[in-house]
Amino acid sequence: MGDAYKGCPSIYDFIDVNWKPEEKNALLEYLSQSASLACTSKIMFPCLIADDDDSDSLCERTDGIWLWLDDLPHYIIHHDLRLPDSFVKHILERGSLSKIHEITTHSFQSEKLERPPTDLFNHENLQPQLKPGIDSLRHEAEEAFRDMNYAKSYLIYKQIGNQMTPAERRRYSYCEKHSGLI
Ligand SMILES: [Zn+2]
Repeated sequence: MGDAYKGCPSIYDFIDVNWKPEEKNALLEYLSQSASLACTSKIMFPCLIADDDDSDSLCERTDGIWLWLDDLPHYIIHHDLRLPDSFVKHILERGSLSKIHEITTHSFQSEKLERPPTDLFNHENLQPQLKPGIDSLRHEAEEAFRDMNYAKSYLIYKQIGNQMTPAERRRYSYCEKHSGLI
């Protein structure tokens, strides 16, 4: 892919047909739902392995530590690409952290448990503020979408983040492509 990539390993070094981790779906979800850092609808790299690429834009995604192109799942699904073990470990650690947070948040509804140490996790305080906020964001985003104001809708969906429903996520990626922000 040009001189700038001379020092980089080949994608074929990462092909492993025997790599079938149990958490594959979770990994793919993580890769495709982390924040977009930069996007363009103008340039895209064709698939490096076969002429089977259906993406029409190019995005970099990040979780704040790792950075990847958003066609990475394509290679995992279609070409047996194996993620570096350290990346997988990192994702699974994060994944289990968010699960722990979820469980903790839910269990705060139980009267039997002691109060959490900080106000941040005080479920009673959090719930009334957060919920209506999200609901009105949802409403606004959908309204903007129906008005074909994709840029506005995109930015609002972005605020909803990982609390988007699958349908909202589809609208979000539609808006991402048609926002004209890039
Ligand atoms: Zn391909």
